[in-house]
Amino acid sequence: MIRPPDLRVRSAAPADTEAVARAIAALCRADDVIVLGGDLGAGKTTFTKALAAGLGVTEQVTSPTFTLAQQYTTGRLPLHHLDVYRIDQLDEVVDLALPELYESRGVVVIEWGDTIAPALPASFLALSFEFGDGDNDRLLELRLIGPGWQPRLEALRESLAPLAADGAAT
Ligand code: ADP
Ligand code: MG
Repeated sequence: MIRPPDLRVRSAAPADTEAVARAIAALCRADDVIVLGGDLGAGKTTFTKALAAGLGVTEQVTSPTFTLAQQYTTGRLPLHHLDVYRIDQLDEVVDLALPELYESRGVVVIEWGDTIAPALPASFLALSFEFGDGDNDRLLELRLIGPGWQPRLEALRESLAPLAADGAAT
């Protein structure tokens, strides 16, 4: 996954990260997969909660760290929220039944997804969160992997333009 990002966004507060999540939620379709990378406290769960709200989920979204996976069904699409931080052996991934989830007509969000790279689908939206200079500063890099998200690149660019970081790729 080492390639230049398709889009780069600067977030100066949780509200910015939430705005990014809502913009992405508006573009989500059945069978989308979103993979979140970045260190602990970078904002992956903050993003996921706002994505859920953007999808219309009314249930409280909690961190699935201890359960690995949570389902929310009150939004316009079912949301599957996975956190694979604790997975240290790839065979544990089998228990998550990922191929079935990818085809379940929902949206699958995977925190720490890059640690299970071989189990990711052909197409997904990758977001990496990096810490910036200030306590609340984050740099979000978006990569559209595979053909699934590619037709939505311009729509993403447009809706994220207010937060675009200098030097955004392409
Ligand atoms: P992760 O899931 O990546 O471990 P969390 O979303 O659980 O991270 O935690 C991120 C923490 O950082 C929250 O307490 C959040 O309020 C705070 N925070 C500060 N600035 C930002 C920002 N720009 N974007 C997202 N979270 C931020
Ligand atoms: Mg988290």
